[in-house]
Amino acid sequence: MTDATSRRENLLDLDPAAAEERLRAFFASRGEPAYRAKQVVRRLWSAPAADFAAITELPIALRRALDEAFTMPRLELAARQKSTDGTEKFLFRMADGQGIETVAIPEGNRLTLCISSQAGCALQCAFCATGAMGFQRNLKLHEIAGQVREMKLLDPPLDVTNIVFMGMGEPLMNWKAVDATLTVLNSPDGFGIGARHITVSTVGVLPGIIALGERPEQFRLAISIHAPTDDLRQTLMPVNTKYPLADVIEAAKAFDRRVTFEYVMLGGVNDRLEDALNLARLAKECRAFVNLIPLHPGGSMGFTPTPSEAIVRFARELRREGVEVAVRKSRGKDIAAACGQLRVERLGRRAPRVAQQNGHVEVA
Ligand code: SF4
Repeated sequence: MTDATSRRENLLDLDPAAAEERLRAFFASRGEPAYRAKQVVRRLWSAPAADFAAITELPIALRRALDEAFTMPRLELAARQKSTDGTEKFLFRMADGQGIETVAIPEGNRLTLCISSQAGCALQCAFCATGAMGFQRNLKLHEIAGQVREMKLLDPPLDVTNIVFMGMGEPLMNWKAVDATLTVLNSPDGFGIGARHITVSTVGVLPGIIALGERPEQFRLAISIHAPTDDLRQTLMPVNTKYPLADVIEAAKAFDRRVTFEYVMLGGVNDRLEDALNLARLAKECRAFVNLIPLHPGGSMGFTPTPSEAIVRFARELRREGVEVAVRKSRGKDIAAACGQLRVERLGRRAPRVAQQNGHVEVA
C-alpha cells in the first residue's frame, strides 16, 4: 500500500449517515452541491459501483477526485461453487489474505445469505470446523456488509432478501462491526433489508444479546443451544463455562422478541428422550421456537448424525410438550456448504475427507 493509498479513507467502513456527512464536507470544500454526497452514498451499498470510475453520473474530474481521497474496497472472490439444489458457496479473500465464506440459499422467492463475521473463531465448539481453525481476526464493517455488496456486483447480480449471521465466527464477539453492519443492512440508504429478515445467531454471548435487544429495530435472535444441560453443553461448547444455560435463558426471556433455539442433532450425544424433555423445558421458559438441525450425512469432527426417523421422534416429543419446532432442510450437501469447509479445503489445512459442520450455519 502506498502512502497515498493509506491516507485515503474507506467509505465502506462508515455507515451511510456517516459516509454522507463525510462526503458533504468533501464536496462543500470543492464548491460542489450537497446532492453529490447522496449520489455517491447510493453507489456505496444500494446500487453499488465496482469503483469510483463506474459512478458515471458524476463528471469524470469528480470521480478522479473521489478516488484520490477515498477507497471503496472490493472483496476478492477466490472460489464459487453451486450445489444441484441451487445453494451457492463463495470464498472471499480479504486484503491481508484471510479467507471467509458466504453461502447463498435460494428458497421460493427468497434468497438468504449466510454471512461471516470473523475469520476463524475462538470459541472451539466441539462439532465445528471453524472452531477447529482457531481465531484469526474480527472482520470489519466493509468485510461483513461487503459480502452482501459483492452479491449485487455479480453478473448477473444476486438479489438478497434475508440475512443470517451464521457463517464463520461468533457475531456477538465482534459487536462493534456487527452493530454497524446491521445499520447498513437495514437502512434505506444501505441495503434496505427489513429487520425481521435479518437474524443474528449466537452461542449466547450475554453482553451482545443485551446490546442487540437495545436496538429499536426488530432484528431476530437465534441462540445455538445444542445441549439442554450445563454438563453436556460444557463438553460441546466451552463458552458455556462463561455463559451458563440459566443465564442464556434469562437473556432470552429478557429479549423483547421471540427467539429461536438452534439444536444440531448429534447421534447418541444430545438426541435422547430426556434431552428432548430438558430442551422443551428450556424452550417453554422463554417461549422459544426450536430449529432441529441434521448433521451432515457423513458426520463431522468425530460426531455421527442422528438418523432422520429419530429426529422426527425428537421433534414429536417437543411438540407433545407444547413447543413449536421445525427440522431444518439439508441444503448444498454436494458442495459441503457448511461454513468453514470451503476455506479449509482451499487452505489445505485439512483433507476434505468428510463433510464438516459449522455450529452456526447448518446448511448441511
Ligand atoms: S459453532 Fe459458532 S461459536 Fe462455535 S466455534 Fe463454530 S463458529 Fe465459533
